[in-house]
Formats: sequence, structure tokens, C-alpha cells
Amino acid sequence: MSGSKSVVSLNGQARGFEDMPAELVHRAQRSQRRAERELAARHEAERLLETKSLELFAVNQRLSQLNSELEDRVEARTKQLDNARKNAVMIGSTDDLTRIANRLNYSVHLESRLAHARTHRGAVGLLLVDLDGFKLVNDTYGHGHGDELLIAIAGRLRDLTRANDMVARIGGDEFAIVIVAEDTLDIAVAAQRFRGAFERPVTIQGVTIEPRGSFGLAISPDHCDNSVDLQRFADLALYKSKSAALGEVIIFEKMFVQAYEYRQRMETEFRAALKLGKIGLNYQPIINSLSGKVEAVEALARWTDSLGVKISPGYFIPMAEQCGIIRDVGRSLLEKALSETGPWLREGLIERVSFNISPIELLDPGFTSAIMEALAKADLQPSHLMLEITEGAVVHNVDLAALVMNRLGLLGVEFALDDFGCGYSNLSTVRKLPISVLKLDRSLLVDAVTERAARVILRSVVNLCRELGIRSVCEGAETEAQSEFLREIKCDFIQGYASGKPQCATDLERSIRLGSRPISPSDAPVR
Ligand code: C2E
Ligand code: MG
Ligand code: MG
Repeated sequence: MSGSKSVVSLNGQARGFEDMPAELVHRAQRSQRRAERELAARHEAERLLETKSLELFAVNQRLSQLNSELEDRVEARTKQLDNARKNAVMIGSTDDLTRIANRLNYSVHLESRLAHARTHRGAVGLLLVDLDGFKLVNDTYGHGHGDELLIAIAGRLRDLTRANDMVARIGGDEFAIVIVAEDTLDIAVAAQRFRGAFERPVTIQGVTIEPRGSFGLAISPDHCDNSVDLQRFADLALYKSKSAALGEVIIFEKMFVQAYEYRQRMETEFRAALKLGKIGLNYQPIINSLSGKVEAVEALARWTDSLGVKISPGYFIPMAEQCGIIRDVGRSLLEKALSETGPWLREGLIERVSFNISPIELLDPGFTSAIMEALAKADLQPSHLMLEITEGAVVHNVDLAALVMNRLGLLGVEFALDDFGCGYSNLSTVRKLPISVLKLDRSLLVDAVTERAARVILRSVVNLCRELGIRSVCEGAETEAQSEFLREIKCDFIQGYASGKPQCATDLERSIRLGSRPISPSDAPVR
């Protein structure tokens, strides 16, 4: 085509330039070149577009792949989070040790059951259960046994629940049971069922523990309709059950509130009195029934409150036990008793001082050394001291009690079993414990006047003591006739108002020295 001048028309048809003027030819050539460039550019653009489209497609492919991967991961993560949340809720609402509901869970449940009962006219009972003597289990056998005991009791309580009930552990040895029922009677019956958890012994690594519990019950709507009062009232009922120590379910009564306020005042006052050394002692003579001589004296705690009321040790000693200060009370009173009677003992005016101890003191790890230290401080011999324990108090820990008593016995301290014949009396305890004196309870003697059977029992027990080589003391001889009967059956010692009321050290010393009957009309606690 060289030499032939042609131009491409816009519709693509070539035509020759020969007959065109030069100017036009140039223009046509320029526009042809432009068209060619444009065409090339368009091709290039199309090529680029195609490449980019392919790339874009690949990118899209990758994106949608990533997207579905991401969706899978989000789904898996959501599941994980959901499980973790469920787990956290479970952990947050369950007691770590016993795997029953914890306090938080219980509070929520109680609120919701109360709300439900308010709208649907049902009843909700709150039963608080406390494991008695739990500290003793921990102290005696170790925390492992304590934990196992809690787990066993929690399991038994849980097995006794019905649908909608909840059992929770709300404190160290305290459980709460929310009981849902149609009416009050149903709740009271259900509450009794939970005592069953304490009716069988629990055996832990070869050790058999007899669990004991206290139970306080408050019911909505009978007593109140809100959770705060319900818990307070159940707590007061529990407190009452604990004081009675009979393992019974106590149902809240309005008068518990006043009793509680009184008790609070007494506790505060008693603590203060103890600090100020205002808990005193009276001494009651124990007479040799043959010679009539004062052989020993029994130290009896005395306390007068801020209103001038004489409070009975039958009230404040259990109170001191319950509020955890009985060791301090015991130590301070023993020191006082040994210091007040020390001169009489060293002089030989009396043979022995008898001192009451609570089982909490006896089973306290530092007990033996505390007793020996007190004796040494007062410059007295172990044989000057007789420790009185009640059978009911040691019945759940006879073996351990015997261990401590034997240890002190080897050092020369003697033991008397107090209040024999009232309540818990069991001859097998007498056999197991190293006691040298059996104190027959006043109730046996009271009945002896009118009942032949009581006289036979007294005579038999006194004979039994003789055969076992144990000295007998009868408490509560108020009349000459009773004392005479005791001499007749050869009871070794007599203690009672007839031969001397409890009185302060000075008065008693005077009357012993004068050889008169130490009777004090003023010794009469009111509560
Ligand atoms: P207990 O050891 O059996 O003491 C004898 C109780 O009988 C004393 O009551 C005494 O006052 C009373 N009593 C003595 N003779 C007669 C009588 O002829 N007729 C009547 N009706 N009662 C008589 P108290 O002093 O009220 O003591 C009550 C209990 O409190 C004691 O019984 C003892 O178990 C406990 N207790 C007293 N002092 C202490 C103490 O320092 N420590 C401990 N742990 N317990 C103590
Ligand atoms: Mg006594
Ligand atoms: Mg007694």
C-alpha cells in the first residue's frame, strides 16, 4: 500500500487520497491516527478491564470464603462465650464445697418465690438449719472431716427437697431451705422432714459422727411477707432451737423478738462484767454424811445485772458457751475459786474445791495446761481440785472426754459426774469415764419422799457407786428428813440447803470455822 494515499472513513471504508488537496489529506491522516490510537486505547482498556474483572472475581471469591470462615468463627466463639457465661452463672450460684445453691442463689430464689406467692396466694417457708458442734468436729478430727460432714448433710438435705424447694449453704455450717407449699401446715410438715438429715450417723474415714442440728422456721404470709423479716424471724427461731439444744424445729413466735432484745442486752452486760471481774462465786458446802464435816465446797458462779437482778448461772453459763467466751469465763472463775479457797485448802479446813466446767472447756486443746497453770499459780496440788462435768454435755464425745480426763487424772485432778439421774443418764458413760464421784441429781431426792420407786433407785445407785469404788454425793437435800434418808442409804456426801446454801467466801469460811450450818437466805437467782 506504500505510495497509495488512503484514509479510513469514519464508517471504516478506505478511500484514496490522490484526488484530495494536501491539506485535507493531512487532516484525514491525523484523524486516522487518532482513531487508531483511540482504538488501541480502547483495546487496552478492555484488556485491563478483563484482567481487573478476573482479579476482582478472585478477590470476591476470597472475600466470600473469608466471610464464611468468619461466620463459623463467630458462631464458635458465641458458643464458647455462652458456655462460659453458663459456667460462670453456675459457679456464681453454687457453693464450691457442697455443690448446692449458695447464698446469692438462695436470696434470688427466696425473693422470686415470695413474689410468686404474693400473686398466686401460696405459702413460703424459710427453714434455717445449723449444724451443732461443728467446730468441735473440726477441732477434734480436722477440717477434712468437717468438710465431709458438710457435704454429707448438704446431700441429705437436697435429697429431701421437693420441686420448687431450694436448699442452700449460706454460712460455714448453716443451711437455708426455701419451702414452697399451699399452706402453713404443709410447710410445717415439710420442715419436720428435714430433721431426717440428722437422724443417721455419718461415717468419715472410719470415724462415726452423730450429726446434730438446730432448726428455725418462719413462714410467709403468716409471719411477714418480705424476705428481710422472714430471714430475721427464721434466725430468731433457729436461735431458740439452738438454746434448747433438743434438735427440734422451732416455729417463729412474736415474743422471740423481745427475748432476743433481752438476750442482746444480757450478752453485752455479761461481757462487760467479765472484763471488770464482776462475775463472782459463791460456795456451797459438801458434807461428809457420817462425820457431818464440810469435806469440800462447790464453787458456783454468780452475776447480778445492771438492774440489780440476780441472773442464774443456768442462764448465763449457756449464754457464755453460745457466744464463745466460756473459756475466758472458766479460766477467770477457776483462778478466783482457787485464790479464794486456797488458804482453806492449804490449811486443811476443807479437802477439795469442786468446780463446774462446760464440755467446751474440757475439749479445748489448752485445757490441761490451763488447769495445771491455775493450780501452780494458786500454790495448790491437783488433788485439791475436783472438776464437775455433766453427762449430757459429754455424751457426744465420750471417748475424747475420757482421754482428757485420764490425762488430768494421771496428774492428780479428780472428776465428778454431775446431775446424774436427770435427762441423759446412762450407766455406760459412768463406765467409760474416769470419775471418782457421782453426783445424784436433786430430782431423784425430791421424788424419794413420796415415791417408793425413787427411793429404790437412789439406794441402788448409791450401792452401785460403792461397788464401783465411786464416791456418791446427793444434791438438793433441803430437809432433815431427806438428809436422814441419805445417811440411811449410806450416801457418802450430802449437798443441799439443809446443810448449807451457796454463799460468799467470807461467810462460808466464818461458818465452817464456827462449825455452824452455813445457811444464807440471800442466794436466790431469779432467772
Ligand atoms: P450444779 O453444778 O448441779 O450446782 C448445783 C445447783 O443446785 C446450784 O444451782 C445450787 O445453788 C443448787 N442447789 C444446791 N442445793 C440446793 C437445794 O437444796 N435445793 C435447790 N433447789 N437447789 C440447790 P446454781 O448455782 O443455780 O447453778 C446451776 C448450775 O449452773 C450448776 O448446777 C452448774 O451446772 C452451773 N454452774 C454454776 N456455776 C458454774 C461455773 O462456774 N461454771 C460452769 N461451767 N457451770 C456452772
Ligand atoms: Mg455442779
Ligand atoms: Mg448438779
